[in-house]
Amino acid sequence: MSYYPYPVEIEYKSATDALQMVFSDDHVSVFPTVLLRGLCPCAKCQGHSGDRAKWQTISRRTQIEVENVQPVGSYALTITWGDGHDTGIYSFQRLREMCPCPECTPEGLPAYQREFGVQPE
Ligand SMILES: [Zn+2]
Ligand SMILES: [Zn+2]
Repeated sequence: MSYYPYPVEIEYKSATDALQMVFSDDHVSVFPTVLLRGLCPCAKCQGHSGDRAKWQTISRRTQIEVENVQPVGSYALTITWGDGHDTGIYSFQRLREMCPCPECTPEGLPAYQREFGVQPE
């Protein structure tokens, strides 16, 4: 069985539109909420697009506001967004792979994954 670090602490930083997670291996990830919503893993957002994650266009502020975060079993969590969208299941493995810190993502995130209101071409 493979082991993946899981979040032991989750804090929503509404002032900076970020969700901060401390993982069980002490790694700290600060996810811009625009990144989490833009890459929402639910079937409605992702369709059957294959391997590459599809980016969701974000045009309203409520889309990146976190209402609630809830665990799903012992492997994932769901986020309820300000516009009521709550079908995305973020596995801990996926979350960790999405970590935008310089150690995990040395090349940095593209601008549209970083800032609200910036859309991919
Ligand atoms: Zn979705
Ligand atoms: Zn990281």
